[in-house]
This record gives sequence, structure tokens and C-alpha cells, in this order.
Amino acid sequence: MFVADFINGEWTDLRIEPYGSLDLHPANAALHYGQSIFEGMKAYKNEKGEILIFRGDANARRLNESAVRMCMPEIPEEIFMEGLLQLLDLDRDWVPSGKGASLYIRPYMFAMDNYIGVKPSDTYKFIIFTCPVGAYYSKPVSVKVETEFTRATEGGTGAAKTAGNYAASLFPALQAQRAGYDQLLWTDGKSHSKIEESGTMNVMFDINGTLITAPTNTGTILKGITRDSVIKLAKDWNKPLEERFLTVSQLEEALKNGSLKEAFGTGTAATIAHISKINVNGQDYLLPEKGPDAFSNKVLNELDGIKYGEIADTRNWIVKI
Ligand SMILES: *Cc1c(COP(=O)(O)O)cnc(C)c1O
Repeated sequence: MFVADFINGEWTDLRIEPYGSLDLHPANAALHYGQSIFEGMKAYKNEKGEILIFRGDANARRLNESAVRMCMPEIPEEIFMEGLLQLLDLDRDWVPSGKGASLYIRPYMFAMDNYIGVKPSDTYKFIIFTCPVGAYYSKPVSVKVETEFTRATEGGTGAAKTAGNYAASLFPALQAQRAGYDQLLWTDGKSHSKIEESGTMNVMFDINGTLITAPTNTGTILKGITRDSVIKLAKDWNKPLEERFLTVSQLEEALKNGSLKEAFGTGTAATIAHISKINVNGQDYLLPEKGPDAFSNKVLNELDGIKYGEIADTRNWIVKI
């Protein structure tokens, strides 16, 4: 794993060391007060055995946006990328081959002060470790529109990839799983009337051929890199697209009158997760079977093609090792 320490106001002791346990003080500030942020990305192997990383610079920038919100130090993009590239070069045999398989990459940063008392830590640790994975959501997912619990509110930390957001989501997600759903569709914290996103995915709806996805300027929604990539492809393909909130009642209406052609989640783990069932206000709605000409298929094939080096990378999204 790649490790760097933030001490006396600078990142020092950049190193790759064997994957293993960490030695933490019982008063470690991250454990008590939650200064902890992370990223999720993947490395792919092409036919020639080269390793490809998809939009890693965007992950580096987003980690720093999370850092600013959580009063943590930014990590220079060169340290992030150089650490990642050297680690992957060393670990290239761990990148599995085959479509769908990849090496999951977890960069993260957390407070290292040993101090009881609420204040920003002065010291931090940044680590990148990896783990081979197969396809994440191979089957379609069922979701429940959550209108009681809240993931994020304006002014909160919803746009940061920070540990506490996920801790707070566990209880409501577990209730939904016990009721038979894979994931929640979160609504806005104030009125619970607008669809925001899912657990670790942004969501998109195709209503009568127009793609609708929530905007990311409220500070309540994680700015997904997959979301951004899908939007860029949709624009290149002249697919009608609206970055606006879909209300729960508009979703319910579209499910009832059949204008909802498809719904899917977007995220690094699943890339595109087809949604097959949505529960709104206690009522289950089944979505139409995904046809071969579905927009989500086209977008998944394009993104996978780029990530596995089968389609030319015309947007500068790939770094090869
Ligand atoms: C990570 C994450 C996403 C997806 O982001 P990608 O960059 O596409 O992987 C969406 N929502 C939440 C809450 C997330 O944590």
C-alpha cells in the first residue's frame, strides 16, 4: 500500500509498504470525531496486459474537495497520481483480466492526532490500497424511495465522500434491505419530495427519451465521476438531458403512465446498475425489461469499451501504465 504522512504542515515520508494493519492510538481523532474521507476507483487490464486507469485526476480533485469541507489538508495531485501509478506498476499482476473484472482502488485520508476534544487534527495519514474485484451488481437492483430518513441536507456534508455520511445511511438502508430492497433512493432532507441519489450511486431516469438526473449544486449530492461521464456521452450523442430534480410525484406519475423507460444508478463500483423495481409511497412498481437498444446499454458498452481499451479514448480519460 502507498502511505504518506501529514506532519508539521506537509506531506512527508512517501512510501510503498507491505499491506497490513495500522498501529492506532486509542485517542485517534478520526475514530472519535470522524475526519475521514475516501475515494473509489478501478484499474482495468486490456488485451495486451497493460493497466488502464479511468479519470484518476478527477478522483484526486474530488478527494481534495472533500478534504476542504472536512478541514483536512489537500494532497497535491502529483503525490496522489505518482503514488497510485507506482503502486499499480508494482501490483500489476493483481489486476485481473476479463471484462467486468478490475482492481478496486481505495485512496483515503484520516486524522492522526491523539487528542480528545473536537478540533481539526494537525496530523493525517493518506493511504492507497487495492483489491481485485469481479462485476459488482451483475443483476438489476430494486430500490425504495426513502421519505423518512435523511442522507444529506443543504449546508451539510452530502457532497463530500466522508465516512460519517455512510455511517448515517446504514440504519435506513438496513430497514429497506429487511423489507426486500437492495438500495434506497434518497430524497432531499427538507421536504423529502425530490429524488437525490442512491447509497453509492447517482441515479438517472429516462422519461420519454429524456434523461433526467439531479443537479449537484445543492451540496447534498456526491459529484459522481461516472455521472459526469454519462452526461458527457449523452451530450456527444445528442441525447436530450435535463439536470434537474425529479420529484417523487413526477416519478410516481411516470411509473404509473409508463413514460419511465428506464432508471439506472451510476458509480465506479457498478458502472451502470439497471433498476428493475421502485417502491414509491409503499407501492412497488416494476420497470419494463431492458431492451437491447436501451440508452444504459449503449452507455455501459461505451464506458466499458473505453476502460478496457477497446474503444479509442478521445476524451483523455485513460492513463496507461
Ligand atoms: C462514490 C459515490 C457515488 C459515485 O461516484 P463515482 O465517482 O461515479 O464512483 C455516488 N454517490 C455517492 C453517495 C458516492 O459515495
